[in-house]
Formats: sequence, structure tokens, C-alpha cells
Amino acid sequence: MRLVTFVPAGEVPRLGAWAEGKIIDLAAALPACPGEVTELLERGEPGMAIARQALTAGLGNPRAWHAPGTVRLLAPVPRPGKILGIGRNYGAHAAEGGLAAQEQPRIFIKLASSVIGTGAPIPKPPRVIELDYETELAVVIGRRARSVSESEAASCIAGYTILNDVSARELQFDVSPPQTSFAKSMDGFCPMGPALATPDEFADPGNIRLRGFVNGELVQDGSTHDLIFPVPHLIAYLSSYLALEPGDVIATGTPSGVGVFRKPPRFLAPGDVVRMEIAEIGVLENRVVAAD
Ligand code: ZN
Repeated sequence: MRLVTFVPAGEVPRLGAWAEGKIIDLAAALPACPGEVTELLERGEPGMAIARQALTAGLGNPRAWHAPGTVRLLAPVPRPGKILGIGRNYGAHAAEGGLAAQEQPRIFIKLASSVIGTGAPIPKPPRVIELDYETELAVVIGRRARSVSESEAASCIAGYTILNDVSARELQFDVSPPQTSFAKSMDGFCPMGPALATPDEFADPGNIRLRGFVNGELVQDGSTHDLIFPVPHLIAYLSSYLALEPGDVIATGTPSGVGVFRKPPRFLAPGDVVRMEIAEIGVLENRVVAAD
């Protein structure tokens, strides 16, 4: 199931599922289904079972679905409780930065206020010069996880989405101490979407291909098979320090090919279009615009 948060023209956000080329309004299809994603996730497996029932009912009821072009998609979780990012989690990306692989995950924060959906603009603040993209698989947590083992981690995953870990590199690399979280938390610096795909959508969650394009040119092409710290390890590690809660997001890191390490560097400018694809999830596409 591919869950979305969508806004019909002139209305408030709704919880939907994307199937057979339609956006199904789940609560319209089945009133017992929650109309908001975090509320759904907090209900755990019984909630997901209701959502699947609603999807089936909605596919047979034209009054419960919309054509995708007629609605606006928000991020599948528009305001996560927290977003934890993992730095240098692909060997080739660590190497392109001239840095050794970490022995433990390296964590930063992205503020929830930076989240936008597919199609929304990424505003470039006038002071930011080194604006960059990072194609990432993001994990959405489905149940509270505190001190869980790697073998328990799979049961804590609601699904996966695509996340563009937009970064102002001069604040991440060129100042001391590094301002990594700030560099990655400006308005619009966390495009996510288009959908939250549940684990059953993936033949092998340990081997998911992700690709990034700038203005149609392929710039990143990786697989989660190459993660230094795979998803179960990240969940176990993070949950040994803090509780992960339904709707929380883990950005698992980016493969090689980001702009700052290209020769010459290739930073984003207003007008550039960044497109990211994971076949099981869809396409996340955002255009850079000049901010005020
Ligand atoms: Zn990143």
C-alpha cells in the first residue's frame, strides 16, 4: 500500500492511498479509517488493516477517489515528530568526501518545519551559496521503539519514502564547529514523498535502488544494499538512546554523486529541478526558487 497525504482543491489535508492510478480518500471510502496519517500509524497493525479495507472499498467507489492531477500531494507525513538524519552512511559517499567510514552512525537533526511535499518549491535563501541535494531512502516509524534489538526493528517500520536531504554546504563544511542540523533545516529543505510505501511493496527492503536527477541528468544511482549501517541497525542504535515514535522519520544517508563533491562542484540555483525516484515509492520532484 502506498499512503499519501493529499489536499483536494479548496479543502483540508486528507489521508489517501495511491493505487491503480487513483488517489483513494480512505476515510471517505470507509468512515472507520482515520483521516490523518499519524493517527493511523498510532493504531498499529489494526489501523493498517482498516486502511487496506478502505482501499479495497474505495477502488470500487468513484465518489471516494480522485485523479492524481486534481489534488496536491503533501509529504506523506507532513509534520513528523522528529527527523533524524544519518551522515556518511554509504561507503562510496564517505570516500568521495575524502573521509573514512564511521564506526558508529553519525546523527544530525532536520527540523520538521523544513518538510515539503513533491511539487512544492525549495526556496533558496539569498545568503545560501552552496545549495545541494541528497537522494535518500527514509524510514517512517510505525510503533514506539525504545531499546529494541535489530531483530525487533522490522516490526517498528511503517514504511519507506523518498527524502531529499537539502543542505547548505557552507554551513555544514566551512565553519567550525559544523552547523549541520541548521544547514539542513531551512524552510523547504526536506522534500519527502510522494508516498509512504509499506514494507510489503518491496521485494527486498535491504536492496532498494534510488536515483537522483538534476534537470534530467542522472547524478546519483545507488542501492540500500550499500548502506554501512542498514535500517535495522539504525533503529536499534537510535532507540538505545531515545524513543522512536509513530510518524518519526530516519533519513538513512545518501549514495555518492552529491553536488559538493563533483569536480567541479555543482550547486543548485533557482530554476533547477531535482527529481528523485524509487520504483516502489514513486517520484519526488521539486524546483529550486529564489526565496525572499
Ligand atoms: Zn543526508
